[in-house]
Amino acid sequence: MGLEMFEFSLIFNLTTIVNCTLMMLWYFHQKKIPLKSYIFFLRFNIYIFMAAATNTLAGILFKTGAVDEVGYNIIMAFYSFMISFILVVYTAFICEYMNMYDKDKLTIKYFLYFILLCTTSIEFTTPFNKIGYYFYEDGYTAGKLGALYFMLSVVLVVTASAVIILKRKNIPAFKAFILLSSIVFSVVMMMLQLKYSVSLLCFGFSIVCLSLYNYIFNPALYIDNLTNLFNKECMRGYFEYRFGRNKQFAIIMLAMDDFKYINKTYGVDTGDNLLRQVGHYLKSVDGIDVVFTYGSDKFVAVCNKKNIDDIKNLSEVILGRFRHPWYSESYSGIMMSTSICCFECPKDASNYSSLIESMDYAISMAKKTNKGGISIAHDMDLTKMRSEKEIEKAVRLAIDRDELLVYYQPIFSVEKNVYNSAEALVRLNDEKLGWISPEEFIPIAEKNGLIIALGDTVLRSVCKFIRDNRLSESSVEYIEVNMSPVQLQQPEYYKKVIEILEEYNVDPSQINIEITETANMVGSSDIINENIKKIVDYGITLSLDDYGSGYSNLDYINHMPFHIIKIDKFIIWDAFQNNKAGITLEYTIKMLNALQYMIVAEGVETKEQKEHLANIGCQYMQGWYYSKAVSGDEFMKVINKVA
Ligand code: C2E
Ligand code: MG
Ligand code: MG
Repeated sequence: MGLEMFEFSLIFNLTTIVNCTLMMLWYFHQKKIPLKSYIFFLRFNIYIFMAAATNTLAGILFKTGAVDEVGYNIIMAFYSFMISFILVVYTAFICEYMNMYDKDKLTIKYFLYFILLCTTSIEFTTPFNKIGYYFYEDGYTAGKLGALYFMLSVVLVVTASAVIILKRKNIPAFKAFILLSSIVFSVVMMMLQLKYSVSLLCFGFSIVCLSLYNYIFNPALYIDNLTNLFNKECMRGYFEYRFGRNKQFAIIMLAMDDFKYINKTYGVDTGDNLLRQVGHYLKSVDGIDVVFTYGSDKFVAVCNKKNIDDIKNLSEVILGRFRHPWYSESYSGIMMSTSICCFECPKDASNYSSLIESMDYAISMAKKTNKGGISIAHDMDLTKMRSEKEIEKAVRLAIDRDELLVYYQPIFSVEKNVYNSAEALVRLNDEKLGWISPEEFIPIAEKNGLIIALGDTVLRSVCKFIRDNRLSESSVEYIEVNMSPVQLQQPEYYKKVIEILEEYNVDPSQINIEITETANMVGSSDIINENIKKIVDYGITLSLDDYGSGYSNLDYINHMPFHIIKIDKFIIWDAFQNNKAGITLEYTIKMLNALQYMIVAEGVETKEQKEHLANIGCQYMQGWYYSKAVSGDEFMKVINKVA
């Protein structure tokens, strides 16, 4: 004889009870992850355990005749209440985990309470009026409100799925997939339970719990192996929750000073051991709630002190510990130093991404200006950092959307009496920030590497312009394109340049690359030298930009294959203000002519400047006297006017 439905249910329920017990043991045995959603996970487990236990109890009591049908139905009402509660808690968990820390969260909260109220009213009146589901020994019958009762579960399932889909960007894709699959799996289990009247749902939920534990709450995902502290991933979830609650809290960030020297001097093992000790010490400091590792030698400690003086005092205590030696198995008395930076939230940062930006910026500033000391983020100028970030965003957006503009400023040849070339100058018009000067955004793009994509876009745009306007048939022999040393530091960057020229069928003689004298270029690296050599071998000429402005180095002129020297506009202007500057300019031009360079004067703004420069031997002029940098179409009109 086969097993009865009751026996099947008993087996599944007992397995569920074992699963949940094991998971609760793990939960209490492991280090607690400081995430709100992790507490939901525990609740989820407890309710599943209780539902399975209630269901088992109801079955056993009914089978043994200890309760009659009404008694059985009353116990089963508790069971269905537990099931509704599990669905509600699961939906709440999803909202918590997907970081719905905005107005939506409150709406969803009331909505969940409402659903719970409806289901509870149906569940607890059902044993007496049979309006919801009516349980009998081996099955269910739907009551008058059975369809509504079923619909409420469907609404919860749809809500949870919608939250996952809508907020999927807040979490890694595979985690969103796990959450969605767990919902689908639970729905399948629910269907099977309805069809076969075997208690599969709790069992299904316990499997969902297992997979959540493995893929989402596995402590290994949140704990740093080296220090056994919580890692950056955990920190993200933690702070997103803290910011969502809109309560004040403070952060003390520590960055070890010159830690690589500790590693070098005492060995990496000792270095690791010391980092573990620092982490352990921070956890033990009175007033600190939780400590995270942030990067290899940085720590982020969160405390509930609200007063800046208290935070400073706490930092003093921590710094005080660094005035005493640290010990390891092989070495005794190692002195270490740390720079500390204190943040008050939400004053210094009101969300996680701005906190990370502020922390990175403030700690690097603190290391530069107050190494080994305590800095207060609020006293630093974080606004500069924020505006840099805004500009960075604008540049990134413009590159992604292909919205960077390239303008052209004509360069006049005195000898030929035509515009024989032009300089390509990038322009950025952001919808929020308006026009941003390249003087502002180029250095930012250089800092974060965006200059590579920006430079490619500009060169592409110039090549397209040359091809589309058939510049080879005009007086304009070549276009000068600014290139940052950062671009030239890319190994084999010359290949990219050649590839772009070939893509647009542009002859190398139609492009000239301007390189500015900077500290980076003095004693330049092999990579830069190779790129420059290959570019010149290919037939592209080079200009030395802003000559005289910065790191004027004769070595430069003597050893780099420049074709054109562009004299910086400030040197030009100064020559008309200051007698000595006038003489230096004159002799500089003589020297450059003797070396057979083409000389371009930048920033020519007046007729007087133009005439004097021509008299002292400068053949090429660029400046507002002739034209500002203008759009491609405008530029074509300007050059045709002279021609
Ligand atoms: P730069 O290469 O020295 O460019 C010359 C700058 O002087 C341009 O400023 C130009 O508009 C300005 N200028 C030209 N003639 C006059 C004049 O008569 N009077 C005055 N007051 N200014 C004049 P802009 O366009 O603001 O560019 C600033 C700098 O940004 C450039 O200096 C260059 O270093 C950088 N830059 C511009 N476009 C690019 C680019 O596509 N790539 C890279 N890497 N840097 C670029
Ligand atoms: Mg230039
Ligand atoms: Mg220049």
